[in-house]
Amino acid sequence: MRMTEIFKQHNPAFSFEFFPPRSRAASERLFRTVAELVPLEAHAVSVTYGAGGTTKERTHELVTRIREDTSFTVVPHLTCVGAGRDETARILDLYVDHGIENIMALRGDPPQNGQAGGETTTAEPATPGQKNPHEAFPYAADLVSFIRKRYPQMGIGVAGFPEGHPQTPNRLAEIEYLKAKVDAGADYICTQLFFDNRDFYDFRERCEIAGIRVPIVAGIMPITTRKGMARMADLAAGSRFPARLLRALERAESDEYVENVGVHWATEQVLDLIDVGVDGVHFYTLNRSDATRRIYDNLGVSSAGRLSRASA
Ligand SMILES: Cc1cc2nc3c(=O)[nH]c(=O)nc-3n(C[C@H](O)[C@H](O)[C@H](O)COP(=O)(O)OP(=O)(O)OC[C@H]3O[C@@H](n4cnc5c(N)ncnc54)[C@H](O)[C@@H]3O)c2cc1C
Repeated sequence: MRMTEIFKQHNPAFSFEFFPPRSRAASERLFRTVAELVPLEAHAVSVTYGAGGTTKERTHELVTRIREDTSFTVVPHLTCVGAGRDETARILDLYVDHGIENIMALRGDPPQNGQAGGETTTAEPATPGQKNPHEAFPYAADLVSFIRKRYPQMGIGVAGFPEGHPQTPNRLAEIEYLKAKVDAGADYICTQLFFDNRDFYDFRERCEIAGIRVPIVAGIMPITTRKGMARMADLAAGSRFPARLLRALERAESDEYVENVGVHWATEQVLDLIDVGVDGVHFYTLNRSDATRRIYDNLGVSSAGRLSRASA
């Protein structure tokens, strides 16, 4: 189902994100995770694309397997970096043949030190020189335009950064660039992770002022370990860790308690987002089910059915 339909039918819409596993064992673990998350009734799941397109085949395999094995609406991510027009069309044709109706269109970042990446939707540490004129699609807006013209039926999501993209010094221009993606044909925006909902609400308001009228989905990633948190800080450069959250994490005696704090914090964020009438909540699962399931438990529900009401 196209994401625009999903937003019409569910308010908020819930989605989960996975990254392509690197080994057969990791792939089997991921499919256990997917099976554990099925009862939570996400309205869509997305699959990341490694930095510089490094997980092209693995992303495709995972997308088609989830599509075949589950009833989830699957949204593959696709990036511009290193992608030619013919190769991009080949990938999109393949998705269309497999009944995929939505794409998350991103610029992506070049791989760092040969790293395959793909574990996260978040920006790689700042890379100097944003625009490469030799790229077929220098910015995500160019990719959106290409998809919209060639695949008019395809649902298209794009990335938004409530606290600013780490490579954009001009915050006013940044919202203009975001609007360019929507004007080029994007149907919705999914945000980078954030820990303070006020940043998200301010971002929504700035979008509204700029005339951006598409659904904006809030990206939520619970902290589960200290090591994971350090990695998040690297990858989601620009995302702020509020002092109150840091103080609570500092008190935690072990990683088990760190996860309790992280899940509690994310639960509060989701509760508030639902109350305020957010269009969608996107959980960065890191291919694990426990934290997302615990958040649902804390919200007092076993599936999304009682969290989202049918939209008007
Ligand atoms: C929800 C989400 C999912 C993601 N999934 C992936 C993934 O699967 N794989 C992956 O590799 N990365 C992923 N990323 C990371 C993303 O690719 C990087 O953060 C990338 O640097 C920005 O991508 P974008 O699509 O926002 O690019 P763009 O919108 O093209 O923006 C890139 C930079 O260029 C600037 N810019 C845009 N247009 C112009 C213009 N006309 N003139 C001058 N400057 C301009 C922007 O302000 C920004 O700084 C994801 C990020 C998010 C939030």
